[in-house]
This record gives sequence, structure tokens and C-alpha cells, in this order.
Amino acid sequence: MTRFLGVSLGKRIARPWGLLVIVLALASCTVSQSSTDGQVAGSTANPGANPGESSTASSAKEPNSPKKVLTTFTILADMAQNVAGDALTVESITRIGAEIHGYEPVPSDIAKAQNADLILYNGMDLERWLEQFLRNVDDVPAAILSEGITPIAIATGPYADKPNPHAWMSPQNALVYVENIRQAFVDLDPANADIYNANAAAYSQSLEAIDQALQAALAALPPTQRYLVTCEGAFSYLARDYGLKEIYIWPINAEQQSTPKQLKAVIEQVKANNVPTVFCESTVSDEAQKQIAQATGAMFGGNLYVDSLSTPTGPVPTFLDLLQYDADVITDGLIGRES
Ligand SMILES: [Zn+2]
Repeated sequence: MTRFLGVSLGKRIARPWGLLVIVLALASCTVSQSSTDGQVAGSTANPGANPGESSTASSAKEPNSPKKVLTTFTILADMAQNVAGDALTVESITRIGAEIHGYEPVPSDIAKAQNADLILYNGMDLERWLEQFLRNVDDVPAAILSEGITPIAIATGPYADKPNPHAWMSPQNALVYVENIRQAFVDLDPANADIYNANAAAYSQSLEAIDQALQAALAALPPTQRYLVTCEGAFSYLARDYGLKEIYIWPINAEQQSTPKQLKAVIEQVKANNVPTVFCESTVSDEAQKQIAQATGAMFGGNLYVDSLSTPTGPVPTFLDLLQYDADVITDGLIGRES
């Protein structure tokens, strides 16, 4: 784990500079009272940065102001901000901690999208609300960040055989997201291509370092302790790339009211495999998983982050933090019980 932390600290060095730039950039372009309560631009809070519901937004397209990029959730915003540096402003439609699969956009989201120069989204049916949403927005280009990733099919439930959308949860896939972001930014703003190319290269190096650290941390788990039991089936890509076996209560967060049948199936698997620790996720209730822990004698190991970053003062203000935090919680939970 020390090696893991070492990598993390290396990452953190770059961040305060980035935050400062973002905060200054946002402070200089604040216009109105707006509706951006608690949304994020990249890895920091973004209060009052968007013209919000003002439909005319005459200040929005000033020639020298950075172009605006809108993402569907906070993790994509953080990745995009790392590639953008201070050459673009980045904002997430859904706010920190939001349930993103079944999100219901509000009118101010449409206004923001109409005022944006580019919309970035995950694809793979993650944003089930987006198709309708984009019909209400004229002439704003949109880019799918999971383009080029081979999907893993969802195994069970009403979405069986559809792609599991949580592709970003493997750093190896995240490298594809970064390349797609870089390409979209170069297309949007060729004058700053050098910035995006350099930032994407640096951020990709950070992701590769996290990938190595994850390999090392998770390789320490004994073969009999490799069951990752979660609420949502969001870890298929991580499990595949790091040699874990995935067990979950429900496949996608829309069905977060777990059924007795789902609970029974997980309880049986936890008992059969003598799984020491079970986990849930930050954007849903962990009650069902705590019931499973109680019924099986397993520990409840805490909440992992998948669909949202934390607040800036929380444990995972950035995507790199999220990957590291989850690996720490998983390895601590699975190894900890053994000793
Ligand atoms: Zn999810």
C-alpha cells in the first residue's frame, strides 16, 4: 500500500496549481445569480460560474473568453478539466453525489447546454436521459468518451446483454477517454491544440502510474480473497483488468430497491465463498448491503466511489483519487479481516 500512496502523493503535487487556475478563471467570468449550486468544474467546486437560466447570455460568447464544455457527470468533468487546463471552462450537468443513471434534467440544464460549445458524455447507455435532452439543444456538438472501448455485457436483470456503462472504472479504459477528450478539444479549439496534447500526455502518464499501483495493490490479495461484493455491478471492467471476481446486488443503480431474490442470491454467494467483506457505493443507500453483512457475518467495508466524485474536502475530489481510494478500501477490507 505504501507504493500506492507514493503514487498518489505524486499526483497531488500538480493539483493545487490546477485548482487555483480554475478558481481564478471562474471568478473572472461569473455573471449572474445562476443556478449552479454545488456543481463542479473538474476537481473543484464551481459556484456561480455559469450564466444558468439566462437564455440570451450575451457575455457567453465573448471572443477572448474560453469556450465552454459541459459533461454529464463529475468524473468526466475532472478528466476533461485535466486535459483542458485553463484553456477551456468545464462544468458537469449532474452535481456531486447525484444519481446519474436516472437523472431528470431541469430547464437550467438545457440553458447551460445551449450555451456550451461542446458536450461530453459517456455513452454505452449510461445517460438514459441524454437522447431526449439533446433534442432540446440546437447545434452544440457532442462527443462520446467511451468510443473505441469494447463493452462488457451486463450479465443479469432487465439490462442483460446491454453494455455495462462503467468503463471509466478501469484506468486502462480511462486512457481511451482521455484520448477522446483530447481529440474533441483539438477539433473544438485547434489554436490551443498544443496545450491539449501536452495536458493529455501528462494526465495519461498519471493514469498509467495509477494503473501500475492498482496492479501492485490488488495483486497482494490472496486468490481466495478476490471477491468484490458491491451494491451496483459497476466494477466489471476493474474486476476484469485486476483479477477480481464480481458479485453485486443489482446490475445498474436504477434498480436500487433490492429485491429479496437479489439479496438471497448475494447472501448465498458470500457464504459459499467465505467472503470477508462487502461494500456499497456513495450514490445509493447502503442498507441492503448492511443487511447482507449481518446475515452472513461479513464485515461492511464501506462505500466505494463510482458514479460521482466527492466534494473538494471529501476523500475523492478527483478521478485519480477515486481510483486510489477504491483500491485502498477494497484491499484493506479484503485483507484486513484475514489477519
Ligand atoms: Zn452506476
